[in-house]
Amino acid sequence: MTQKKVAILGAGFSGLTLAWALTKKNISVEIFEAGAREGGMLGSKFDGVLIEQAANALLASENVETLLNDIGVKPVTAGFRSKKRWIYRDHPQKLPLRLSELLSGALSFLRAKISNNLQPLPNETLAAWAVRVFNPAIRDYLISPAFQGVYGTKADALSASLILKPLFEKSLRSKKGSLNGSISAESGMQEIIDGLARYLTERGVIINKNVGITVAELTKSHSAVVVATSLENAKYALKETAPIVSEQMSSVPMLPLATVTLKFSSTSRVQGFGCLFPAPENFHALGVLFNSDIFPGRGDYSETWIISDVKSTDDNLLRAIAIDRKRMAGAEENPVAHHIRRWEKALPLYGKELEKVLVNAPFSQGLISGVRLDESRSPLYLTGNYLGVIGLAKILDYNIRLSQRIEREIA
Ligand SMILES: Cc1cc2nc3c(=O)[nH]c(=O)nc-3n(C[C@H](O)[C@H](O)[C@H](O)COP(=O)(O)OP(=O)(O)OC[C@H]3O[C@@H](n4cnc5c(N)ncnc54)[C@H](O)[C@@H]3O)c2cc1C
Repeated sequence: MTQKKVAILGAGFSGLTLAWALTKKNISVEIFEAGAREGGMLGSKFDGVLIEQAANALLASENVETLLNDIGVKPVTAGFRSKKRWIYRDHPQKLPLRLSELLSGALSFLRAKISNNLQPLPNETLAAWAVRVFNPAIRDYLISPAFQGVYGTKADALSASLILKPLFEKSLRSKKGSLNGSISAESGMQEIIDGLARYLTERGVIINKNVGITVAELTKSHSAVVVATSLENAKYALKETAPIVSEQMSSVPMLPLATVTLKFSSTSRVQGFGCLFPAPENFHALGVLFNSDIFPGRGDYSETWIISDVKSTDDNLLRAIAIDRKRMAGAEENPVAHHIRRWEKALPLYGKELEKVLVNAPFSQGLISGVRLDESRSPLYLTGNYLGVIGLAKILDYNIRLSQRIEREIA
């Protein structure tokens, strides 16, 4: 190991995977975590069924496979039943569009392609982009539900350029490995966190827990500092040292989300990965995951419902989901157990405010690359799910790029 040491604030997936990438480069790392455990939003527990408190899987990629292999976690891939993905329009459908809507959408897409108008415009919402390039039906029944499953809200609140950038930019696409689709570990996402923590401690990385340390202190004691918290916490952590960045971050709303995992004894159910509920269908929930079809063999049959309402009582949430479920499955059935996890500030809204911060703000370079706040301090970097990538596999790709940058800049 070299003498230089990088401080990472936060031991969630972002902080731990950046530490992994730096450790592989023989760069010393010390982690400072405000909470009592590693993992941040990720966590699994077993209660007759596996309950994931946030993410239930990562998208397979070469980097994900390398990570899991390094930390000694055997990947489990999604079961064959999960190949079917449903979107609700009167009933669950694989492609809920009429032939006329598909044809008019294809024609409109061709026109946009020929006239070189596919690229999102500045400040354009995903909903407006979908209508400009396709048509309202494709917006409502394909594009909006597909992205609401990942970004936690509907297309009219999302920024087209932020959401579509990873699709348009080749350099942002994850390199494919030997596995496909969603992957996890046998006993759930916590196993990946435990594997990361074990890998790091075995290589001398100290993970300090329950600590309250400031970025200002760390920029004096370490060769580089990385803030690897949620956007909500980053804006506080940076208030003193990087007030402009902190203020820009404050303009970005955080979305509330709750995960409601239901266990059933028998099942009148739809089979597949899950079902998404488009806005015009007026469901309470955004969507549902059929856990037992995605990763079979993890206890009894269970589903996880994702809903934006975090304020209602448990009873009201369960009632709303029972109504949704009856519509979706066509039959009523009471769960034998439930587990509710509310996140008041679950995810950053990938909307116009974040677009402004990441694309237009004069400090945007500083958000992604290292910035030296003043000559006497070490450089400061950011990582997390608000820097243009929200899913775990993309955060991992970003961290590998960031580790290369840190290696160069602190050499
Ligand atoms: C309901 C839901 C479902 C999801 N499903 C998926 C999915 O299936 N697949 C997928 O890829 N992604 C999914 N995601 C997204 C993914 O879970 C998150 O993007 C990811 O877990 C965020 O990790 P993080 O490390 O960036 O942040 P966090 O998990 O928030 O970790 C940040 C850590 O920093 C610590 N911290 C905060 N402030 C400080 C401070 N001042 N000093 C020190 N430490 C601090 C916190 O305690 C925490 O441990 C989902 C998200 C939600 C909400």
